[in-house]
Amino acid sequence: MTKQKILNELVELSHHLGEESKEYAIIGEGNTSAKIDAHTFFVKASGSNLKTIRPDQLIEIDWRKVGALLDGDPSDEDVTRMLNEARVDPAVSARPSVETVLHGALYQITDAKFIGHAHCVYANMILCSKNARDIVRHIMPDEIVVCGIESVFVPYTDPGVPLAREVVARVKEVAERHGEMPRTIYLQNHGVIALGQSPKQVENVMAMAVKHAKILAGTYALGGPNFLSDHDIARIHYRPDEHVRRAQFK
Ligand SMILES: [Zn+2]
Repeated sequence: MTKQKILNELVELSHHLGEESKEYAIIGEGNTSAKIDAHTFFVKASGSNLKTIRPDQLIEIDWRKVGALLDGDPSDEDVTRMLNEARVDPAVSARPSVETVLHGALYQITDAKFIGHAHCVYANMILCSKNARDIVRHIMPDEIVVCGIESVFVPYTDPGVPLAREVVARVKEVAERHGEMPRTIYLQNHGVIALGQSPKQVENVMAMAVKHAKILAGTYALGGPNFLSDHDIARIHYRPDEHVRRAQFK
């Protein structure tokens, strides 16, 4: 895919996730990105609006200039300076999202090609509640098919580099446990990250994660969730007909 096509698809994905009727993000909430090659990716500019974003508000970043932030103990000023220096086109004046390091790190450790992050109302009903951790437990088969056998739960962490580090550690744990990449990451008191090999997969994962959260929220009014057993979860995840269905969602 050419860089221009990737950029066009990312604009479309951003507009889709930013539609107000979906209640995923309002004002400047949420961010999106797309992998270009092994070292570079586009990421949303800080303060831009998903619903109305323009191509010039999606900034090309060189991961080799910011990856070191994950290991050191950078100050807020260091982070701002390094993010600005990582812009491939020095003529760009827009500033990369505070979650740029998070997006870049996920392209290094997963197979994602597009990433969407939003502060979805229904997911945050659960994630901001005392029952936040219930969100990674399965209650319906289609959610397993679309969102994966185990979603990642990340306890509340300061946005930016600390959150990127925590997400990397938790994603690696889940990936190693199952030998496959997670698709859905839930951030406590914050929101959802959807990982996809295509923009469509990001849209599907986000939509299903939100539906899952909405249904889960409803179950608390009706005696509480009836979680699927480990046996039933494994059966759904590994049966051949579901493999075929999953391939159609990519
Ligand atoms: Zn966020």
